[in-house]
Amino acid sequence: MSHSDVLKAAGFADAELTGGSLAVRSPIDGAIVAHVAETPASDMPGVIAKAQEAFKAWRSVPAPRRGELVRLLGEELRAAKDELGAVVTLEAGKIISEGLGEVQEMIDICDFAVGQSRQLYGLTIASERPGHRMMETWHPMGPCGVITAFNFPVAVWSWNSALALVCGDPVIWKPSEKTPLTALTCMKIMARALERFGDAPEGLVQLVIGGPEIGEVLVNSSDVPIVSATGSTRMGGIVGPKVSARWGRPILELGGNNAMIVAPSADLDMAIRAIVFSAVGTAGQRCTSLRRLIVHHSIKDDLVAKLAAAYASLPIGDPRDSGTLIGPLIDQASADRMAAMLEQAKGEGGTVHGGGAASGVGEGAYVHPAIVEMPGQTDTVKTETFAPILYVMGYDTLDEAIALQNGVPQGLSSCIFTLNMREAETFLSAGGSDCGIANVNIGPSGAEIGGAFGGEKETGGGRESGSDAWKGYMRRQTNTINYSAELPLAQGVKFDI
Ligand code: NAD
Repeated sequence: MSHSDVLKAAGFADAELTGGSLAVRSPIDGAIVAHVAETPASDMPGVIAKAQEAFKAWRSVPAPRRGELVRLLGEELRAAKDELGAVVTLEAGKIISEGLGEVQEMIDICDFAVGQSRQLYGLTIASERPGHRMMETWHPMGPCGVITAFNFPVAVWSWNSALALVCGDPVIWKPSEKTPLTALTCMKIMARALERFGDAPEGLVQLVIGGPEIGEVLVNSSDVPIVSATGSTRMGGIVGPKVSARWGRPILELGGNNAMIVAPSADLDMAIRAIVFSAVGTAGQRCTSLRRLIVHHSIKDDLVAKLAAAYASLPIGDPRDSGTLIGPLIDQASADRMAAMLEQAKGEGGTVHGGGAASGVGEGAYVHPAIVEMPGQTDTVKTETFAPILYVMGYDTLDEAIALQNGVPQGLSSCIFTLNMREAETFLSAGGSDCGIANVNIGPSGAEIGGAFGGEKETGGGRESGSDAWKGYMRRQTNTINYSAELPLAQGVKFDI
């Protein structure tokens, strides 16, 4: 399908795609596919005020009824899966199955959140005073600003929105300026769910389009109590302190530098499949992409040779072709950064296999993925480069391997391949991986919706998606009720008047 056919199928009228100030390029061929309208900064106070108004109504709607809106969103996403997946491919360059997979992730979080809408459980707490009852209640928090990155242009919005909506919070979404079309498509789908729902307040789900300066308005507004920001550590380093300084709640999902330890007992065939998927899938542009391989010296040369052979036959090219496994990088600047980091790694004693430009479509930035054998964990290895570079290092003892795994500033995802139970359990123990995600015999990427997603250190500490991540979108209230005729004070304090 041509780019314009994809956009037509997603419901775009020509007028929406022309005349705006933001040029949108498809990474598939580098072509400009639209000029969309940006949100003027002068509109932002009105947007935030509308969300505040919507909050006053939405917070009192029973949570299971709020869940009904998310259920309808899930239904509309199922119906529009192919069309939205194709826009993800067009605008983010993902291969077809990854574009569809991203929409499936949206459907999964909707299902999860619908169930959650009947489970916003508080606690009953034993009071130390006679005739008293204590409890803990969860209340809606207020408008939630959602700032997202280009590489998961739709799933991250849904992780946040599905939970925020059932928790009683309106959402204002600022997508990456590189992916406004996927965001506009989501709004069309959301509009259908809202129409079927019937009586949602106006301004419950809003989209603002623009660069960092539009995001900054959300970051700086005390009428936006939650700001969930996904992107680079550089961005989080600006956003996090600003939200905290005005006593807002930041949820930060930032860069990763994810490692796999491959132990001598590992099932190497399985490890190789996991390595290739997680290192080159999405052209190395996942926050959970595998970037560091820490391999026992006894199997390192064998593993590198097998990996280099597997890399040599990977189909690189047009992500719309069903046989392609590696599509383009988001833009040429990204390919240039990859080339520069490979040069830097060479300067630090690295041996580079692969890398360099690959043939693709038009002006798209297609690259060969690279494997780089490194003499140690240098500054280059400690830096997240958002491209398919896999650094390989050797180790002798598990302690050494865990120290290497933990010896970077980021703390998102990690894994070990081993058939040795002691090694696996040590890796998952308090003295093991320091990441938010730690897996055994599974690669670091491709998380399921049911677990809490996020990481430590420079990854920002935020958690989204499953488990009890919903608590990040609500405020906790402790209640004490006295049903006696006395007024005893806690800790036995006497204060008779
Ligand atoms: P980016 O930091 O350039 O941009 C992300 C978003 O932040 C964009 O919407 C951008 O406009 C906005 N932004 C930038 N500066 C801002 C500011 N000062 N105030 C408000 N908003 C601002 O990131 P990117 O290049 O789009 O995405 C790649 C990065 O995202 C990688 O580092 C990747 O690891 C990370 N990422 C992390 C996760 C996670 O869950 N941990 C998920 C996806 C991507």
